[in-house]
Amino acid sequence: MPKNMKHAEDETPSMWYMTRRTLKYILKLAWKEKRIVYFYHLLRFIGEGLSEVKMLLLPKLLVDEIVAIIDGAGMEEHIGNAVLYIALTVAAEFLSGLIVTTSQKKLNYYGVYFNRIFTYGLSAKSMEMDFQHTEDPTVLNQQNKAKEGIGWYSGGVTGMLESMFSVIYHFLLMCTSITIFIFYCPLILPVQIMGMALVTYFNSRKQRINARAFLKIGKVNRLFSYFVYELCSYKYGKDIRLYNCVDMLTSRSMEFGDESMGIFRERAEGSLKYEYYSQTANAFRDAFSYSYMGYRALIGLLSLGDLTMCISAASRLFQSMLWLGTNAQGLVQSCSYAYHYIVYLEYSDALSKGDKTVSDGEHEIVFENVSFKYPRSEEYVLKDINFTIRSGEHLSIVGLNGAGKTTFIKLLCRLYDVTEGRILIDGTDIREYSNEEYRKLFAVVFQDFQLFAFSLKDNIAMGRADEPVDDKKVEEALKLSGLYDDAVALDEGLDTRLFKSFDEHGTELSGGQRQKAAISRALYRNAPIVILDEPTAALDPLAEYEIYKKFDVLVGGKTAIYISHRLSSCKFCDRIAVFADKTVRECGTHDELVNIKDGIYAEMFEAQAQYYVEAAG
Ligand code: ADP
Repeated sequence: MPKNMKHAEDETPSMWYMTRRTLKYILKLAWKEKRIVYFYHLLRFIGEGLSEVKMLLLPKLLVDEIVAIIDGAGMEEHIGNAVLYIALTVAAEFLSGLIVTTSQKKLNYYGVYFNRIFTYGLSAKSMEMDFQHTEDPTVLNQQNKAKEGIGWYSGGVTGMLESMFSVIYHFLLMCTSITIFIFYCPLILPVQIMGMALVTYFNSRKQRINARAFLKIGKVNRLFSYFVYELCSYKYGKDIRLYNCVDMLTSRSMEFGDESMGIFRERAEGSLKYEYYSQTANAFRDAFSYSYMGYRALIGLLSLGDLTMCISAASRLFQSMLWLGTNAQGLVQSCSYAYHYIVYLEYSDALSKGDKTVSDGEHEIVFENVSFKYPRSEEYVLKDINFTIRSGEHLSIVGLNGAGKTTFIKLLCRLYDVTEGRILIDGTDIREYSNEEYRKLFAVVFQDFQLFAFSLKDNIAMGRADEPVDDKKVEEALKLSGLYDDAVALDEGLDTRLFKSFDEHGTELSGGQRQKAAISRALYRNAPIVILDEPTAALDPLAEYEIYKKFDVLVGGKTAIYISHRLSSCKFCDRIAVFADKTVRECGTHDELVNIKDGIYAEMFEAQAQYYVEAAG
């Protein structure tokens, strides 16, 4: 099991570890991508500090000057000072407002910027990770936790940096208020600290309840969004309507909705009592502090200016301690949410990766004692396969549904690794090749191939962003598959977008056109090994036969593998491999196989031929 998967599932690492890891990651990322965010955080820090000077110090100075004026001593000097302090107060208010607003606006912008980086990172990881992870519920749950954790749960980069700067800021403010009390009202300190300790404790209990709810909500939300968002997708439209399943889907989505509401309710009820406890502790603390300060002023130990400053410092001390605690806890909590993003990004590969390059020229494929069971499954799907596909050979793979034909192709394409045995290409174990190099060998059209909501041209030339689309090659591929005439007749020709996701004028191709588009994509790729895994299953046998036969001519001297459960589609192949009982049970030309007495192929061919005769009759 991958190291960080262990973190995600078996043992949750300590809060301290998650905070350290996440902060390091976020600080580095911010520095690398947009170090200016540090400047704006610092600027806001200064703006807020200015506001504290205005609230703490200037009122004391002003009150003392006014008291001196009332007392009638040195009027001119005191009036001058009072005017100066008023001017400073106004200037501090204006400047701090300006600085805080400007920096906040900039930080909001950078917040969006970093959210984009996270979203791209998450999508890229989801698309790049080994295929077998994409069916693993543990990975899917982790993906959801990452998505939510790095988003509004943690506040993203700006949210976390804000909490971090806030912790430093409130720490300094707390030190300032404590210094004031040491000199003016020392007894207040222990009471304030005790009150604060209680409030912090109650807050931490609340946050523990929130964190527990977050862990539970990840899975429920994933299922809930499947019903609420994914199923609204256009592609499910026909099935949902024709099978009249709106009620069933709605009631299923309600179940998950109820479950998530239950988690939120539990969270709200659990945290409410701690809210009440905090309020009570605050009321006692205030009652003592204000009575004590008033008493010291009455007995002449504090001037009116001092009293003003102490009252302000008391609320500052309380607020700074509260915010210090809240922000520190918030920071720890945000980091623990965002940590799931790092775990997801660092999810280990499911398959080992080699670095060998693939040579040009001929490619012989050898399956050597290959057995396979799917991850998290106990049952073998393929067992003891020993099979060689010669370079340039046109091979047909047939067998009943579930015989393991697609699995064989998935192993060959290295979407999964064999459980036992090995697959060799040109004498080298395929695990030793670099993934990128290895994938270049294949052009595959699976039964469930997908077209994307891009232009038709981009769909044919799917590939690297840094490689320009070769228009001539696209046209050639479309001509070969027979889609060219239909394609140029579209509103914007080959630039017409498919589907309506991005473009209301986007087009919907018919089933047959979609298959031709997928075949064009395989032809455009010009790989040495081409595979058709029943992309034509929806067609009638005759149409499938026509497409396979035509395709067979198109691929020419390349190695070609065709999968079909219709035997008529493969008569023209050099060899036919019959999959049954988890292995290759028969192999030979069509004529050889039909002549095996009681052979599987002969029996299947007879049954299917009879069906076609009956259907024709
Ligand atoms: P075929 O292509 O011959 O119809 P497949 O290779 O698709 O057969 O499937 C072979 C067996 O493997 C079937 O029993 C199928 O249920 C099982 N199977 C296919 N895909 C998966 C998967 N991703 N996880 C677990 N079992 C699978």
